[in-house]
Amino acid sequence: MRELVGHCQRCGKAVYCEDGFLNGAIVEGSGALICSDCAYPPKEAEGSESSE
Ligand SMILES: [Zn+2]
Repeated sequence: MRELVGHCQRCGKAVYCEDGFLNGAIVEGSGALICSDCAYPPKEAEGSESSE
């Protein structure tokens, strides 16, 4: 089951609730709805040096 919850406050992407699991997050404090991409950004250069 997929239900449209709203749109990301940052990128405007549609955020769905799938089988009771929110495909995004609610920002604490402001209560803004954001998508999973904005909620959990891919960590690229964080400590781990990529040696080619
Ligand atoms: Zn987003």
